[in-house]
Amino acid sequence: MVLNGNVIFDIISIMKFSRRNVLKITGFGLMGLFVLPRMAFAARNTLRSMRTGVQPGDKTRLVIETANRPSYSLSYPTGQLVVNLSNTSANTGVTASLASGGLVKSVTQVQNGDALQIIATLKKPISQIPKSGIMVLSPNGDNDYRLVLDFKAGAPAAANESYTTSSATATTAITASRKYIIVIDAGHGGKDPGCIGKGGTREKDIVLSVAKKLKNKLDSNGFKTYLTRSDDRYLKLGQRAEIAESRHADLFISLHANANPSRKMKGFSIYTLSEKASDEEAKKLAEAENAADKIGVEGFTEFEENIRIALSSLQQHAVAEMSEEYANGCAKSFKRASIEQQPGPDVRHAPFAVLRSTVPGALLELGHLSNPGEEKLLKSGAHQDKLVNAIVKSIKNYNFEV
Ligand SMILES: [Zn+2]
Repeated sequence: MVLNGNVIFDIISIMKFSRRNVLKITGFGLMGLFVLPRMAFAARNTLRSMRTGVQPGDKTRLVIETANRPSYSLSYPTGQLVVNLSNTSANTGVTASLASGGLVKSVTQVQNGDALQIIATLKKPISQIPKSGIMVLSPNGDNDYRLVLDFKAGAPAAANESYTTSSATATTAITASRKYIIVIDAGHGGKDPGCIGKGGTREKDIVLSVAKKLKNKLDSNGFKTYLTRSDDRYLKLGQRAEIAESRHADLFISLHANANPSRKMKGFSIYTLSEKASDEEAKKLAEAENAADKIGVEGFTEFEENIRIALSSLQQHAVAEMSEEYANGCAKSFKRASIEQQPGPDVRHAPFAVLRSTVPGALLELGHLSNPGEEKLLKSGAHQDKLVNAIVKSIKNYNFEV
């Protein structure tokens, strides 16, 4: 049986995000783990429900619920928003429930070969929906997978007029329509050196050098990049997160190097934000990295509260999912480049202050300065290039359109 990319993705997302299904799968033992999802998810996707709602800020929300994780593309023919769901069957039993006051006049289903098109006829034109207005949510007990689209009335972008309802064309058009924005954060700086190797190498210098190289390489690969700092200066963690917010970044990468009481410990590790640390080591690391702010003055708590209010729990969930997806891809990219990995899981979680924002992102510990061999490596231009190439690949492979 051919195991295609979508199916692999489904297995990973089920294992990660749906405890209900994980329990079901593990009940079948190891064979079940490999056989059951293939059988279940090679099947066509099914439409479960459709509804619209009105959100604060004059936004209309369209929710499309499906049995499996939807694979979709969007197009914007005049007066319509078309959601193309690949490998999905129409469900005549489903009628959209429409909230009054929204921008959607009616919603219809049209089977187009293998794909199901959900056509929303609009009362007013809309602009292309930004990534921040698109979420794919995993099952939560009451609901199956949901594709959530938030949009406002606006002038249709010129590029949209050429969109067709063919998914390939639409995807290309979306990709070509703008540069993705990456904010690169070189950890520490100024009065905060970060960790220091036995040979005197300072974390703040290594990560700044890697950050600059990464910026150049990403710029030449068609991304729009910003550095949180481009010289040896101290920035509070909240300020770094705020730069990601104000630049409307699609992805935030915070670069660090590690230290361990054991000089033998080496390898990279990758972290995403969570309120609870995944393990004791991750907890200690977050405490160490967060401690940087104690050098400075207050201000972060206030910022954190603003962000917390701005973020709905739905968005928090979506940001966490996207961060997790990026971090997993990044770990793969590092391993493919034969960069030594610290023993442990590919992605760990901890409450890193610098990652607390509405921008998906990860904190990369590039290696251990406390290990003499790795200290030498981290200082070398060739190894820094290797790290940069692996990060660039992980960003190019990341699915920015959710
Ligand atoms: Zn650090």
